[in-house]
Amino acid sequence: MKIGFIGLGNMGAPMAANLVKAGHQVTGFDTAAPMPEGVTKAASAAEAAKGAEVVITMLPNGTILRAVADQVIPAMEKGAVLCDCSTVDVESARAVAEKAEAAGLGALDAPVSGGVGGASGGTLTFMVGGGEAAFATVKPLFDIMGQKAVHCGGAGAGQSAKICNNMILGATMIVTCEAFALADKLGLDRQKMFDVVSTSSGYSWSMNAYCPAPGVGPQSPSDNDYKPGFAAELMLKDLRLSQQAAEAVDADTPMGQMAQKLYETFVEAEDGLGKDFSAMLPRFEKRHRG
Ligand code: NAD
Repeated sequence: MKIGFIGLGNMGAPMAANLVKAGHQVTGFDTAAPMPEGVTKAASAAEAAKGAEVVITMLPNGTILRAVADQVIPAMEKGAVLCDCSTVDVESARAVAEKAEAAGLGALDAPVSGGVGGASGGTLTFMVGGGEAAFATVKPLFDIMGQKAVHCGGAGAGQSAKICNNMILGATMIVTCEAFALADKLGLDRQKMFDVVSTSSGYSWSMNAYCPAPGVGPQSPSDNDYKPGFAAELMLKDLRLSQQAAEAVDADTPMGQMAQKLYETFVEAEDGLGKDFSAMLPRFEKRHRG
């Protein structure tokens, strides 16, 4: 397949590399990042999109996505599919899909879960919004770049699923960290705490698969001095998107709101910037000592 790939940063570069490895012809464009091996460099986003059956974008945010979409949509041939894999606000995803469809294109919002490791290993999960036909066109590419693609519904449904998932993740990580810090204060051994909670009703992905306590549970960023992993500032980005969406549809999300505030404080007023999002545990420990 002829593929245009725009935004070849930490996530986009390994995703594009996997498409090349599978035999696809990939033309890429990035304002700063170099092209991975086998990807032909285009001079502009529009040039990367020209003649492509699928154009994939992997960009920092919704404002940049909207600007890039305005450049690539006129360059694409009718029937081609614009597939955005970035994490952006639901409104931008829907606005871009509307423009693409008005121009005779298919459009998908297909954010991912799995991080840089998943992008390199081809084991991402795609949560996808958009039409059936567009999903069917891109499904073979999702199968190369990932292990699972869930078609969640119409335009914006992929972004909706992503921000709801990450709102749960942010809140459960915080409460898992504060529970460990409380257990410390109560004199409870961390390993015992893990053994009980990971097999009891308090279990979660944050506890069982990504335990924030070093030396306890499976290997996770806590065992590597809280180097990301999934950076606290990226969690903050996703929590902001969930609260922006909640406000837009008048949904009551007090725990999500609290999680956003805590990550905001951690990243902007404390030392959380550049740390894994599970570094909330040492944060709570420090507050105890203070
Ligand atoms: P990144 O900053 O490494 O990559 C983004 C790339 O887009 C950069 O190389 C940048 O130069 C390029 N870019 C910016 N403006 C551009 C433009 N106008 N035209 C062309 N290229 C442009 O970010 P990333 O970590 O690869 O994340 C990309 C997206 O994936 C984000 O929306 C992020 O929220 C999401 N995401 C990231 C992770 C992760 O673990 N890093 C996990 C899941 C989802």
